[in-house]
Amino acid sequence: MDCDVVVVGAGLAGLRCARRLAEGGRSVVLVEAEDAVGGRQRTEEVDGFLLDRGFQVLNPAYPAVRRWVDLQALDLRTFGAGVLVRRAGGLVEVAHPLRHPSGAWATLRSGLIGPRAVLALARWAGPAVAAPRRVVRGPDRPRRDGLDRVGLRGPLRTEVLEPFLAGVLAEEGGETSDAFTRLLVRMFGRAGRRRAGERSRGGRRRRAGGSEQSRGPAHPAHQGTADVVVRGR
Ligand SMILES: Cc1cc2nc3c(=O)[nH]c(=O)nc-3n(C[C@H](O)[C@H](O)[C@H](O)COP(=O)(O)OP(=O)(O)OC[C@H]3O[C@@H](n4cnc5c(N)ncnc54)[C@H](O)[C@@H]3O)c2cc1C
Repeated sequence: MDCDVVVVGAGLAGLRCARRLAEGGRSVVLVEAEDAVGGRQRTEEVDGFLLDRGFQVLNPAYPAVRRWVDLQALDLRTFGAGVLVRRAGGLVEVAHPLRHPSGAWATLRSGLIGPRAVLALARWAGPAVAAPRRVVRGPDRPRRDGLDRVGLRGPLRTEVLEPFLAGVLAEEGGETSDAFTRLLVRMFGRAGRRRAGERSRGGRRRRAGGSEQSRGPAHPAHQGTADVVVRGR
């Protein structure tokens, strides 16, 4: 192929990679095995129904999303910050205590949270909230050992945290890096928090002097000098 770089796979990662290379002046060919771009983040039309392959939630606190995605153009809607847990007696709610103080009573009555578990959770996640860089540079271990180390046991761990993390990380054994998981939890805690200079839903966003300006439309494959080759085209 007559190009500087061939990028294989037109999922989110390949699309972004190709665009970045194209912005840097490289000629890029992006090849995709399927009949359209998007990878796991695609919507397919079947008998008139639009079916998402996955991707129900976009966390705007992810640094790469902040850097590269025009969140304003996506016109996002926020979810409540919390989880519903199915227990023997039905669904119970565990809400973010600062964002939904009115849900505190339901959370306390859920039977999932006690003072010891809250303290252990704070010991586990607190350093990632207060000093994330130190967590990145510090020692690491599998997530299950990290939770054992702070003494986080009981239903908050087994019925809330571990099932939630298993869904996000796609592994149930607790092998994922403890540091990475804590940083991920930090970002979930921050998602939906509005920052100075931002407004939601159609409001104009002015930059607060940070590094977060939108870098153009969110369809990288059609920009710059990247050519996209998909199967059958
Ligand atoms: C059910 C489900 C729900 C999810 N929900 C969320 C969510 O709510 N929020 C969230 O942030 N993330 C979610 N994710 C994860 C998210 O979808 C993925 O992390 C992301 O889409 C991965 O992008 P990627 O580019 O790394 O890989 P992929 O999207 O997997 O892209 C890889 C691409 O490479 C192509 N390819 C592979 N091999 C070749 C080859 N040899 N030649 C040519 N092409 C090739 C594939 O066809 C594919 O198009 C979900 C995932 C699933 C499956």
